Parts: sequence; C-alpha cells; structure tokens
Amino acid sequence: MLTDNFFWLFPTVCFLCHQESDGGIFCKKCFLKVTLIEKPYCQKCGKLFSEGTYNGNLCTECYQNERIFDLARSLFLYNCGVRKLIVHIKQTGNRNMVKKFCEMLVIRYSYLFSNIDVIIPVPSHWSRILFRGFNPADVIVWGLHEITGIALNRCLKRVRYTRYQHKKSKIERIKNVRNAFSCSWCGNTLRNVLLVDDVMTTGSTLNECSKVLKDAGAKKIHCVTIASTEAQ
Ligand SMILES: [Zn+2]
Ligand SMILES: [Zn+2]
Repeated sequence: MLTDNFFWLFPTVCFLCHQESDGGIFCKKCFLKVTLIEKPYCQKCGKLFSEGTYNGNLCTECYQNERIFDLARSLFLYNCGVRKLIVHIKQTGNRNMVKKFCEMLVIRYSYLFSNIDVIIPVPSHWSRILFRGFNPADVIVWGLHEITGIALNRCLKRVRYTRYQHKKSKIERIKNVRNAFSCSWCGNTLRNVLLVDDVMTTGSTLNECSKVLKDAGAKKIHCVTIASTEAQ
C-alpha cells in the first residue's frame, strides 16, 4: 500500500504525542512514559516482575493457577502511556503503528514464532465489531502474518457477549469469560498456535481461548500481546 511505503520516508513521528522524534518510535519525553518489558519477567506469562516480587522463574499467578497456554510474551508494560497507545489502536486500527510493534515482537521473541502453524486472533463479539468496524487483535494478526508469512485463521468465535474486564476482580474475570468462546477449526489437524490479543491483564481470556483451542486439538499455544500488566 502506498501509505505504508511512504511512512518510512518521512521523519519519524512520535507514536504518543505525534511530535517529530529523532528517528525512534517515541520522542525522548514520551520514551520515559513507556516501559519495554525486559528481563526479569515471568518465564510463563512474560509479565514484568515488579521490584521485590522476583523470586525464581514464575510469577505468583503462574505458580498458583493453571495456565493452559504454554508461553505468553508482551512488548510493553500496560501503564498510562501504553494505555493511550492501545486506545489509539482500538479507535483507529493504525496499521503502521501496529506493524512496527509486530516487528519488535518478532525480533525480541523470535522463539515464539518457530514451528507455529497458524496465527489466531482472540475474537471480539460481533456487536463490538459493528460499533468499531474491526477487531483490534485482527490488526495485530495481519501485521504478524505479513512479517512472518505464517497462515492466519479466525476460527475462534465469541459466542457470548462479555462485559469489559478492566473493573473486575480476578475471580470475576475468570467467570466472565467462561464458555464465551468456540472454535470452528476445520481442515488439517490443528497443531501449534500463536494466539494474539492486544492486552493481557490476568490472562483469563488467553487461558479460556487456549482451553477451547486445546479441546479442538491444538498441541502448543504461544500467546503474544502488545502490553501486559505487572506480575503479581
Ligand atoms: Zn512524544
Ligand atoms: Zn506469570
């Protein structure tokens, strides 16, 4: 697409404040408002350990609860600055921005993408797609598909409307998404899956989707999101 190509010719504009930046995706001021997830992070869910919570390889959530997915990784810590980015992606579906984040995900976590047969987005309910015009996870899946060439498939469906998760407790979130998804996979055997969403908070949505995919035959499930909350 013409706009995609021309994007790289112009001076880079900060993704957050839209002022000119010195070649980076954030200007110096905004760079301080975002946190890239770097080690130490939980070896299972990829959440950043906050100071004092680092003991061993797993966060408390992964240690105490069953994670049905095999691995999850995120690019940014979900803080105020990154929340703005996610809202922007949800409102505009900005493909240039999302593609840059996808490139970063592929470079940082190349091991997540090896031996993956299919990339599957966490679905939105049809009423939200009607309101917004697209599913934010679809935009990320497109970026990852274009970069890696791995096939994509929208076999997951949201069969039940679920309320927004952000004001709910952990238990409420698990209940909220229980039996909310179905899988309409047909064709070759479903094997190794890359499951994609915009944000991971407790991981209950990724877990529930992973359950449905494993019931449908999936062997290995790796998850990627743009952002995730701090490890508990
Ligand atoms: Zn800025
Ligand atoms: Zn964890």
